[in-house]
Amino acid sequence: MAKTIGVDLGGSHVLAAVVDEDGKIHHRSEFDITDRAPDVVIPLIAKAIDDVLASSKDKAIDAVGVGAPGNVDLVTGAVRYSPNFGWHDVPLGARLRGHCGKNVIVGNDARCAVLGEHTFGTGRGTANFVLLTLGTGIGGGIVAENTLLLGNAGGAGEFGHSQIRATDGFVCSCGKTGCFEAQASGTGLVRHALALAPSFPRSELSNVKPEKLGSREIRKAAEAGDAHGLAAWTRFIDDLARGLANVIAFSNPQTIALGGGVASAGDFMLAAVRPRVEELTTMVPRGQTSIVTAALGNDAGAIGAATMARRGGLTTKDR
Ligand SMILES: [Zn+2]
Repeated sequence: MAKTIGVDLGGSHVLAAVVDEDGKIHHRSEFDITDRAPDVVIPLIAKAIDDVLASSKDKAIDAVGVGAPGNVDLVTGAVRYSPNFGWHDVPLGARLRGHCGKNVIVGNDARCAVLGEHTFGTGRGTANFVLLTLGTGIGGGIVAENTLLLGNAGGAGEFGHSQIRATDGFVCSCGKTGCFEAQASGTGLVRHALALAPSFPRSELSNVKPEKLGSREIRKAAEAGDAHGLAAWTRFIDDLARGLANVIAFSNPQTIALGGGVASAGDFMLAAVRPRVEELTTMVPRGQTSIVTAALGNDAGAIGAATMARRGGLTTKDR
C-alpha cells in the first residue's frame, strides 16, 4: 500500500507521520516548538521528516505534505503570512525540498485537517462539511458539494478572522478587534477568564499565575461549578455560538465538526452551544446542521497533509 508523509506544524509542536492510503499512521516523530523563528522551525520539521523516513525504511515514499499555519502560496509552498508565527514570505516548501529531495507540497494546516477529517473522519460521505479547530487560534475549512474550497488565494475558510465583536472584543493576533478566534479559541477562553478575574477575587482560578492559566483549567473549573470558571465559559460559549451561526449562514453545512484542544470538552461544550446556535440561526432553516466533535483528534492535520501529498494537491478528489 502506497504511503506518504504528512507534517502538521502547530503553534507549539510539529508532528511528522508516515500515513497509508487508509489514513492509518505507521510511524511518527514529534518535537515541541519553543522558538517560532523560521531558522529554528524548518530544521525541526526536516528532522521529523528524516526520523520517520528512517524508521519506515520504505524507499518508495516520495511525497511529503506539510500543513502550515497562515496563508500559503499553493504553487511555491511559501508561507505568505502567518500572524501566530510572525512569518512573512517564508519559502518553507523550497527549503524542505532542498533538504529531503522529495516532492514537498505545502498547504494551510486547517485546510489539511478538514481534508483528513472529510476523507477519514466525521466528514466521510458528507457532501457539505465544515471543520473548525479550536486551539491557539481557530482554523477552518469548507467542503461544499464534496469539493474543498480554496478560494482565490487559498484563503477560503478563514472563519477565525471574521469579526464577531468588532466594538467590544479582544484584539486579535491579526490586528483586528473581536475576531472569532480572539473570542472563542482556547486562547479566547483564557482571555475571558482573565478579563473576569477582578469580579471573582476568591476564585481558585485567580490563584493560578496568568501565564500558567490554560483553557483546560477553566473548563474543569466550569464543569466543577466554580462561579469564575462558569462565567468565563458562558461568555466563551456565547461567542462560539455567534461564530458557528455565521459559519452556517456562510456555507450551510450538513455537519460542523469541532476539533482542537478545547473541543475535548465534548458534550459539556456541545450541549451548551447547540441551542444558542439555533437561536442565532435565522435565514438558514434551523435544525439542519449537526454540530459534533471531530474524530481524528490531533492527528487530523498530519493525516490530511499526507492525503494532500498523495493526491498531489489540496483536494478532496483522488486523481
Ligand atoms: Zn483576526
